[in-house]
Amino acid sequence: MGLLSGKDVAEALKVQMKKDVDGLKGKGVQPTLGIIRMGAEPGDLAYEKGAKKTCEELGVGVQVFELPREGSQADLIATIKKVNADKAVHGVLLFQPLPKQIDAFAARAALDPAKDMDGITDGSMAGIYSDSGKGYPPCTAESVIKILKHYKVELAGKNVVVLGRSTVIGKPVSMLLLKENATVTVCHSKTKDLTKKTQEADVVVVAMGKAYFCDKSFFRAGQFVVDVGVNAKPSGEKGTCGDIKTEEVEPIVAGITPVPGGVGSVTNVNLITHVIDAAKKA
Ligand code: NAP
Repeated sequence: MGLLSGKDVAEALKVQMKKDVDGLKGKGVQPTLGIIRMGAEPGDLAYEKGAKKTCEELGVGVQVFELPREGSQADLIATIKKVNADKAVHGVLLFQPLPKQIDAFAARAALDPAKDMDGITDGSMAGIYSDSGKGYPPCTAESVIKILKHYKVELAGKNVVVLGRSTVIGKPVSMLLLKENATVTVCHSKTKDLTKKTQEADVVVVAMGKAYFCDKSFFRAGQFVVDVGVNAKPSGEKGTCGDIKTEEVEPIVAGITPVPGGVGSVTNVNLITHVIDAAKKA
């Protein structure tokens, strides 16, 4: 199978999404994403541009609620509450990290989990852990599962090793993999014998944020590998790279996602699937 293109997964998702948007429009509803942004951080703007492009392509509306980077906690909370109550906005993306004068915990707590499109509220997290169906999983973590399903990688009964235990990726992806009946081992910086653990896995998900950390010694033939990492190239060259030395690992394993063009290509489309779903529920 070689490289597992995230772009192909995104295109496949869009086919159903277009149908869903048309269906909602027939009922007089335009699914709409609200973006809350403090300032104009380059990373936020790049993500916003991608999300807007996807929304435009699919006929999904976007409203941007912009506050100054030096804005106050009270203004941010008031904006979040306003968007919570706005029936024309079905889902919200709140850019993080927030500036240091903001209590990020209080900001996240102010967001209605039903409108939390990227799994940042405690309500959404609880939904993943309890299977209550409340809220939405973080888009990147869920994109890992969507990629594996798209390429028909079997998960039930398989051994999956996750490198990384962050709240945004490692932990939620582990919960989502359990839901698919995989046997999950979560590794982190204190884990011993990392390569032994990854070698034994059927599927490896790497979310460490360490450029080119995993070389071919981590992998063996027949495995499927998802590289979630997005890092600046250590050489100082332009562009991004993953946590894996893709060039030397790709010839060994059954399939691996590239960086760029892998998980990142699915994440922003996946965000819009949540908006469409929230519009259906509303
Ligand atoms: P993070 O919060 O820094 O977590 C990194 C995890 O990797 C931690 O659990 C850490 O262990 C573990 N780790 C670090 N060094 C290790 C080592 N030497 N051995 C074993 N484990 C180690 O990062 P994150 O937010 O999860 O992000 C991970 C990567 O995903 C980043 O490159 C980020 O840019 C990328 N990302 C991609 C997307 C996308 O759409 N593709 C979206 C978001 C993030 P400890 O817990 O012990 O410290």
